[in-house]
Amino acid sequence: MKGFINRIIENSFIDGPGNRMAIFMQGCNMACLYCHNPETQRMCNLCMVCVDNCPQGALQQANGKIEYDKTKCIMCDRCLEACKNFSSPKYIEMESDELLKIILDNEIFLDGITFSGGECTLQIDFILEVIEKVKNKTSLTAFIDTNGFTDQESLDKLVKCVDGFMLDIKALNDKVHKKLTGVSNKPILENLEFLSKTGLLYEVRYVLVEGFNDSIEDVKEISYLIKNLNDYTRLVLIPFRPFGVKTELSKLPPYSKEKYNILYNEAIKILEDRVIEKG
Ligand code: SF4
Ligand code: SF4
Repeated sequence: MKGFINRIIENSFIDGPGNRMAIFMQGCNMACLYCHNPETQRMCNLCMVCVDNCPQGALQQANGKIEYDKTKCIMCDRCLEACKNFSSPKYIEMESDELLKIILDNEIFLDGITFSGGECTLQIDFILEVIEKVKNKTSLTAFIDTNGFTDQESLDKLVKCVDGFMLDIKALNDKVHKKLTGVSNKPILENLEFLSKTGLLYEVRYVLVEGFNDSIEDVKEISYLIKNLNDYTRLVLIPFRPFGVKTELSKLPPYSKEKYNILYNEAIKILEDRVIEKG
């Protein structure tokens, strides 16, 4: 089976426990205002804008898709800036066995693999196939980094074969959530409860965005939610950064360190060592 992959980071220490290969799948079902990987959100619609903007001639349309010549690319990212479709001409279609080979070639250095995105659960059959093959051949762990906007059937399949989940909560106020992401947080909060009960909810991630979800009350609320959920899930507080952002939020400055520290300390009062600082 084939999957669409935006990029692979062979060694990552921020995508789950230990050293992990992070596999970023193409395509998402949200449109977050602060997304710093906006080129992972949509599939290419062959508009050709990126081809015209590439200074190296590294892109061309052929065989009904954009062909990308890595040897000519100077990584200037002009194609990504030019794409108005929140896509990338550089994502690749890959067979599960091709991905398996890359994982096996790096196995000796790794603790595990993490599927991220985009929203990786949109390609559930592909990731299940890869995880099954990886588990048959190695002792690597498999983690899922999800926005939580997914269906029960996919989660039921995943909990049978993965070792952990990282889940984003963008805002607890549903109006704010809709403004930030375009969708309601109701199914995400239901999935949070479900994953908590499986014992596999390794981490909840919460990005602090000035004026949206970063009042002291907001941080207390998310901290109490995690505290009352179970006794094991970590809360990672992440300060907003404008890097890569393609919406009106690109004009916001990086999150104030002073304000971050105040909010982090509030969270510690509730969750103690289950709060993780992200500088
Ligand atoms: S990053 Fe994009 S625009 Fe720049 S050289 Fe590579 S393909 Fe061309
Ligand atoms: S990657 Fe974006 S700009 Fe390039 S053809 Fe696809 S949709 Fe158009």
